[in-house]
Amino acid sequence: MTAKITVIQEDITRLPVDAIVNAANNSLLGGGGVDGAIHKAAGPELLAECKTLVGCLTGEAKITDAYQLPCKKVIHTVGPIWQGGEQQEAILLARCYQRSMTLAAEHQLRSIAFPAISCGVYGYPVKQACEIAMSTVVEQTSYYPDIRKVIFCAFDEQVYQAYIRAMQSIQVH
Ligand code: ADP
Repeated sequence: MTAKITVIQEDITRLPVDAIVNAANNSLLGGGGVDGAIHKAAGPELLAECKTLVGCLTGEAKITDAYQLPCKKVIHTVGPIWQGGEQQEAILLARCYQRSMTLAAEHQLRSIAFPAISCGVYGYPVKQACEIAMSTVVEQTSYYPDIRKVIFCAFDEQVYQAYIRAMQSIQVH
């Protein structure tokens, strides 16, 4: 059986899943957007653990505990900054989803929620980003059958609609 893939419009910090993914920056020392919301909701212990990780390369991912969050773990990944599309942005964005799924599987995490990585201040075109997110995760679920549930967690209506369209275009059920 394949994983259940769902799209919701919600604050990712409220989700009681096994893992939420953070769209972090290279320092892993917190920032705005979803990163700021996750650190605020998790409490200061999250920043303390992140300091021990010595940053993260773009397209890579690292895992921490979730502290005050209702999820079990936080997977921090660093999306590419959109620079026009010729700087390997698509490859790096896909890698964020791949690495996050791999880390989740390695830690026996069975449900995972993703924000729209790079779709905020990093400026990735939303339609393209959501298509990459959806197609990459669908492919990864076939490698990791123990991941039972994947949630694409949109914060705003535009991203929500883009996920729905991306899902329909590749006929995910
Ligand atoms: P990036 O730097 O990777 O672009 P941002 O945090 O600026 O990351 O934005 C990524 C996406 O996360 C945006 O679509 C933004 O609307 C969304 N977002 C912001 N806060 C939250 C939240 N609390 N839960 C889920 N998504 C969020």
